[in-house]
Amino acid sequence: MAEGVRRLLGKPGAVDIRPYGKLLEQIEAREEGLRELEDAELTAKATELGDAELPYDKADLVELCAVGREAARRALGERPFDVQLMGVMALLDGRIAEMATGEGKTLTGALAAAGFALRGKRVHLLSVNDYLARRDAEWMRPLYELLGVATAWIAEDSTAEERRTAYSADITYASVSELGFDVLRDRMVTDADERVLPAPEVAIIDEADSVLVDEARVPLVLAGAAEASDADAEMADLVRTLTPRIHYEVDAEGRNVQLTDAGIDAVEKALGGVDLYDEDDTSVLPRVNLALHAHVLLQRDVHYVVRDGQVRLINESRGRIALLQRWPDGLQAAVEAKEKVAVSETGEVLDSITVQALVLRYPTLCGMTGTAMAVAEQLREFYELEVAQIPSNKPCVREDEPNRLYATREEKEDALVAEVARVHETGRPVLIGTQDVAESELLAKRLADEGLECTVLNAKNDADEAAVIAEAGTYGAVTVSTQMAGRGTDIRLGGSDMADRDRVVEAGGLYVLGFGHYPSSRLDDQLRGRAGRQGDPGGSAFFVSLDDELITTAGGETTGYKADAEGRITDESWLAMVDHAQRVAQGRLLEVHRNTWRYNQIIDVQRQVVLEHREAVLTQGLGDRQLAVDCAARHAELVEEVGEEETGRAARLITLYHLDRGWTDHNAFLAELREGIHLRFLGRRDPLDEFNRDAVPAFKGFLDEARAKAAQTFEDAEVEDGAVDVAAAGVKRPSMTWTYMVHDHPFSSGIETVVGRLKGRRASD
Ligand code: ADP
Ligand code: MG
Repeated sequence: MAEGVRRLLGKPGAVDIRPYGKLLEQIEAREEGLRELEDAELTAKATELGDAELPYDKADLVELCAVGREAARRALGERPFDVQLMGVMALLDGRIAEMATGEGKTLTGALAAAGFALRGKRVHLLSVNDYLARRDAEWMRPLYELLGVATAWIAEDSTAEERRTAYSADITYASVSELGFDVLRDRMVTDADERVLPAPEVAIIDEADSVLVDEARVPLVLAGAAEASDADAEMADLVRTLTPRIHYEVDAEGRNVQLTDAGIDAVEKALGGVDLYDEDDTSVLPRVNLALHAHVLLQRDVHYVVRDGQVRLINESRGRIALLQRWPDGLQAAVEAKEKVAVSETGEVLDSITVQALVLRYPTLCGMTGTAMAVAEQLREFYELEVAQIPSNKPCVREDEPNRLYATREEKEDALVAEVARVHETGRPVLIGTQDVAESELLAKRLADEGLECTVLNAKNDADEAAVIAEAGTYGAVTVSTQMAGRGTDIRLGGSDMADRDRVVEAGGLYVLGFGHYPSSRLDDQLRGRAGRQGDPGGSAFFVSLDDELITTAGGETTGYKADAEGRITDESWLAMVDHAQRVAQGRLLEVHRNTWRYNQIIDVQRQVVLEHREAVLTQGLGDRQLAVDCAARHAELVEEVGEEETGRAARLITLYHLDRGWTDHNAFLAELREGIHLRFLGRRDPLDEFNRDAVPAFKGFLDEARAKAAQTFEDAEVEDGAVDVAAAGVKRPSMTWTYMVHDHPFSSGIETVVGRLKGRRASD
């Protein structure tokens, strides 16, 4: 199809929003009639909407939008724009509403949430971080009050009781990670009353593409205390003596490192003649690999920093150093050995859930974001979600310049610094987006050397970042930030109080500079979208060089160009090559997503079997019934001695213990299997087939085995003071648990990078 014809049909893949537009006049007419009502009468109108089932019919939808609009005007002083109401209708239809930055998605999401809640659905509004969850809940609270629906939010330090209360509200705001951690903890309870979450009903996801696509494969992990693993100082010292390209090779993507034959010889010799590939002693090779991975692929100040004698991880996509973050056990210890710092306590993974699996629990799913069309296909493939493209309230007048391509990184940096200096002269605020924290810091130093003072956003908490980014539109401001720092925060021209707005508008509005492209054009667009909100003036430009990781990784051409004296390349075919490199990167990200999804599918099927079984034990006395059959004599004896209820309690605890223990072990087996297959079968067979070949039979006798073990424990358990002493029979829960997120960054390290927080939450909490 010709490009022109396609454009006439609108973007392929978006849902038709004209039906929403047709209701706008009726909504406005109805709104007039609501103006004179007392607040209490308006609340009553909202409540009346609850007398029917979802979905809303047209008349009720008009009523909902009119009442919601009038309530927002009164409660927040903001009368929702037509486009926001179209967004509300799209969300109620279960769509992803694409609305640009600054269009007011918070209010849009809130009105849709109220719409679901009024019809009796429990709504979870999911944010990308805890700061935004709280901010949005507090911000929208007056609106919800006027509409007669209850709202609450989950904070990172909320207790179990507070969480239970918050989740019982009509609408609960939570970060994706906190929600996931609650799901994981709920799966480990031994008493149904300990659970904090009700059954999932509706999720509205803010920044939906970040959550559903970028973070989709990120596992949220619940870990429990276990023995600390040893620092492998010997291996750390050994790999330090190896020479790149002679002893080991790193693959083109920098994701894997492998010993060469010479490397194998050197290591075997250094270890006094061991055989690394000895079938009977397979313990040495993983140690070497871990140390090598820590030494070669994880770079100080890029992947982690060492502060106060501790290794702290940098979350690459967010460019943030999170306190108490860690990698999976072995790797954490290997990096600690590399840096010669004290080894921290380790734990074992009790269970995990990917963000994708987490949101797929909801029967109704919708969300909003500034950039959805670019991933419309993935949203359909992985979530069966369609995108509704909502036009902006005012036309966007931001000027996006074509790429500025340079031959080398130095020339790119020089050009960017010169551009910042030139623009800064005029007072126009500049926001520079970098790939990671290390780059932000280098660039800030470079700018300072040129006498350009700038604010760097990284390694801080979300609230601080929000406060800083809110001022990025101040006259004369220069701000350097990673792509996602301070997201969700409005950048107003003239500063957060807009005091200087006229002067900044005069200067051209916010000017966004990208220091290199991100691995997808969608991420570039998110940075660009920082400027030009609500019809503001603004501009953007990306500075790219041929030695940018994005281009070298994609195997782009890097010689034979023609450049001017500043090193700038303007030839069309070279500019096209940059776009191509980005498409290659996008394709690879999608492949990684699909691949992780395939691995997780089999694991999820197995997990589901265990969870369903667990539920029956927890709430329907299945363990007791089984043990009454398997250990009939002992069961009868115990009932006689301690009564039915206590016997049932013991049976439940014992059965749950063996189910959970078995699942934790099986999980560890699967993790090892996956990592091992990656190493063993690289390039030869389909690793996924190999994985399934081992994972399926390993699970085969799972439930029977747990049942048999429970029977054994039940037989052995003794009575103490009128109760069955299950602890003495070996039934122990982890003394403490903690949670984290694992990010694997497809462009730097193959091993998953843990970036969550070690929380030290007690299991009983
Ligand atoms: P987004 O999430 O789409 O980027 P926000 O929800 O953060 O946007 O809102 C951006 C800004 O627009 C906020 O300052 C908000 O108060 C303002 N805003 C939203 N809706 C309206 C409205 N209908 N009228 C006036 N201001 C609005
Ligand atoms: Mg927002």
